[in-house]
Amino acid sequence: MKRAIVVGSGAGGATAAQALQGRFDVTVLEMGRAFRPFRTDLRLPERLKRLGLLRDTRAIRTLFPAMHARKAADGTVLVTGHGTGGTTTLATGNAMRLDAGLRRIGIDLEAEFEELAREVPITTDHRAVWSAPAARAFAACEEMGLEPHPTPKMGHQERCRGCGHCVLGCPHGVKWDARQLVAQARARGARLLEGWRVRSIVARNGAASGVLATSGWRRRFFPADVVVVAAGGLETPRILQRSGIESEHRLFVDPVLCVATRWPGARQDRELSMPFFVRRGAVIIAPYFDYLSYFFDRRWRHGAGDIFSLMIKLADAGTGSVAGRRIDATLTIADRERLNEAVELCAEIFGRLGVPGSELFLGTLNAGHPGGTLPLTERDARSVHPSRLPENVWVADASLFPESLGGPPILTTMALARRVARRVAAAAC
Ligand SMILES: Cc1cc2nc3c(=O)[nH]c(=O)nc-3n(C[C@H](O)[C@H](O)[C@H](O)COP(=O)(O)OP(=O)(O)OC[C@H]3O[C@@H](n4cnc5c(N)ncnc54)[C@H](O)[C@@H]3O)c2cc1C
Ligand code: SF4
Repeated sequence: MKRAIVVGSGAGGATAAQALQGRFDVTVLEMGRAFRPFRTDLRLPERLKRLGLLRDTRAIRTLFPAMHARKAADGTVLVTGHGTGGTTTLATGNAMRLDAGLRRIGIDLEAEFEELAREVPITTDHRAVWSAPAARAFAACEEMGLEPHPTPKMGHQERCRGCGHCVLGCPHGVKWDARQLVAQARARGARLLEGWRVRSIVARNGAASGVLATSGWRRRFFPADVVVVAAGGLETPRILQRSGIESEHRLFVDPVLCVATRWPGARQDRELSMPFFVRRGAVIIAPYFDYLSYFFDRRWRHGAGDIFSLMIKLADAGTGSVAGRRIDATLTIADRERLNEAVELCAEIFGRLGVPGSELFLGTLNAGHPGGTLPLTERDARSVHPSRLPENVWVADASLFPESLGGPPILTTMALARRVARRVAAAAC
């Protein structure tokens, strides 16, 4: 059987591995380790915070190895998951079909979305675990004509225990993540090698013969007939660059900014993340307890149970870039204006809840939806194989999106990765 190497085990990699195993002998190379939910008592980081020892967001990794935070050149904190399941293990579980941009260039993923709907449990049945402020905010948004919707969640959130740890890894197995696809691929014979970081693709005469990877001091060549790169929106372009394949000078990240207030007894830290959402053009607003801001931003000085926060997520113009270790996520003036307008809208929502603007404070600008460095075009719509890639090298992650999806990318990334896997199998016949 032909050998396929899949790089990364997140939304795209896990989907590709599950779809390819059987037609290929699949080996998944994942640079992180087995994912473990954050189990440490939050009193430890709370104490470190009080002592002023939590200053740099990059320190989150020492407390919670699966979560990596790095700073873009403009200061935006970029959050990704490193470990089996990739960033899906840190996701809040939101499931949205967001393929308008792909449709515009002629890619119809209807069949793939239908398959996923049969395989991934999705529910909006979680109102019973909303906090009182979230329920009030939902009503306020309805009164304001903002048309809020309970957020569709991947998993069995009707069984949610309301522990509030969604972005720290669900300790109760309620939330669905891509590890389930990895497990299915392994049950059919795929190999998962954790702790192996792919450095580059080895190619000769326009075709790859395998990849070079390292694990600690060990360095190894993994031979392959097909290489599928799905290391996420920030790492895939770096692997390609190290392999002599230029990605485009663009990157979207979907910046996140929280608007918060002191709300004694809100207990948002014990709530399912993002229980509902409001969409306003390029912006999504949802209740969200931002652990990154809570631990590292001095403005978040109140107790975790006494803060209520609304998150703004913006579909940015995608004018950033990845060049080796340097990541630029600078926003355009129009992006900044949209963020400011959304902050004002949040202030209006808080106003309806009786919170004056003078009692609001912001969180740290961060982002967790990187992609778009190897965008598909109309020319690639059938092949889903950008022409700059060697014939047997494929990309199957958020790097392929022509523009920001303007919302949670997991479901659409998985649908696209399935399409890529189909084309990989067809091309190998
Ligand atoms: C806090 C947070 C909450 C989120 N919530 C949601 C949500 O509710 N819904 C939603 O749809 N999206 C959510 N997202 C975004 C979503 O998780 C990502 O967009 C999605 O997982 C991206 O899929 P991917 O396959 O492109 O990359 P990833 O899922 O990031 O997977 C990439 C994998 O590749 C591995 N890797 C990287 N480099 C290498 C290398 N050189 N060699 C080997 N392995 C490598 C990484 O360790 C990782 O496991 C959230 C993101 C964050 C940060
Ligand atoms: S709030 Fe619910 S879904 Fe989120 S981690 Fe806790 S049990 Fe899991």
